[in-house]
Amino acid sequence: MARVSLRKVTKAYEAFPAVHGIDLEIEENEFVVLVGPSGCGKSTTLRMLAGLEDITSGEIWIGDRLVNDVEPGARDIAMVFQNYALYPHMTVKQNIEFGLKQRRFPKAEIERRVADAARMLDITPLLDRKPRALSGSQRQRVAMGRAMVRSPEVFLFDEPLSNLDAKLRVQMRTEIKRLHQTIPTTTVYVTHDQVEAMTLADRVVVMNKGLIEQIDEPQTLYHRPSSRFVAGFIGSPAMNFFDGRLEGTEQGLQIRLADGTALPVPAARAEAYGTYRDQSITLGLRPEHLTAALGKPGSAPLTVVVDVVEPLGIEVLVYFSLGGELYCARLDAEARVAPGESVQLWADMNHMHLIDPTSGRVVY
Ligand code: ATP
Repeated sequence: MARVSLRKVTKAYEAFPAVHGIDLEIEENEFVVLVGPSGCGKSTTLRMLAGLEDITSGEIWIGDRLVNDVEPGARDIAMVFQNYALYPHMTVKQNIEFGLKQRRFPKAEIERRVADAARMLDITPLLDRKPRALSGSQRQRVAMGRAMVRSPEVFLFDEPLSNLDAKLRVQMRTEIKRLHQTIPTTTVYVTHDQVEAMTLADRVVVMNKGLIEQIDEPQTLYHRPSSRFVAGFIGSPAMNFFDGRLEGTEQGLQIRLADGTALPVPAARAEAYGTYRDQSITLGLRPEHLTAALGKPGSAPLTVVVDVVEPLGIEVLVYFSLGGELYCARLDAEARVAPGESVQLWADMNHMHLIDPTSGRVVY
């Protein structure tokens, strides 16, 4: 088990900078997920850590070793890939024990480790099969078994669940989490799926355009995003962003939306927002903070015309447009609304975020 440090790590493909000097400290046994849209540099970062990609500048430390020039095989890491990368001509058992045999482990030790991993991953009955006779999730378990038996200092996962259907993805996600609880190991996991990131990670690293936008625990990331990018990327349906203007009145601050609606700002925010008075701002409100729930303290009415209704069983998503933009509200399952209908929603302003429209920074 080891700490992992990335210090000012940069990767440029010819002139194209894919990763711009990122700093990341991963604690021993921590499960860190790198998440971000396609092309943000997360796979490149993982591959540099694995030694599959040279770094252009900076330092990568695993434990107390600077590994910049250490071959992948000597880094004491194990990687699980999206495409499983199993040897097709070998049985499951041979695939799992391959790395141990190469490293000349004693036979009894190999048997013990393979049996332990197979039991933990529930693949003991499959040990004599070839990969082509396995389902996608069984192959993924074999790939994980092969990584586990090596007891590496660091586990790396590169989108391991992307080839599975939605139901299996959720099931394997839980298993990966349980495995980490059973055998805590420093883990770096790459995904573009924010739900996967939130559910698995001790800490999530949100990347955008080769830079780290925010590193935080899932709940902090959700409730206190530092930028509009993170606020919009984490959470589904995504946070609503309204253009508006911060106005001062005798009662305090309020936000004037494009359609003329005025939403009062909670008094506790007055100091934090003071410098934005009489300026254009962006108001961020998650769909669950736009509801039909009447009379919650700090809520303000907002009348909208329903565009699309999505009943999900546990709740109803209602989409409406305002000034040409589409927004989403989450209503209780009992809500009866129809497209074209005018409804009064309540904006829970105690959960609002004020975003600087120029810098994209969340003020609070
Ligand atoms: P995805 O989710 O699509 O895999 P990602 O966030 O993992 O995206 P990377 O694969 O790390 O992104 O790529 C980061 C950027 O570097 C992208 O713009 C990509 O086109 C570019 N890139 C990656 N590999 C190479 C390469 N071998 N040569 C040139 N450019 C590359």
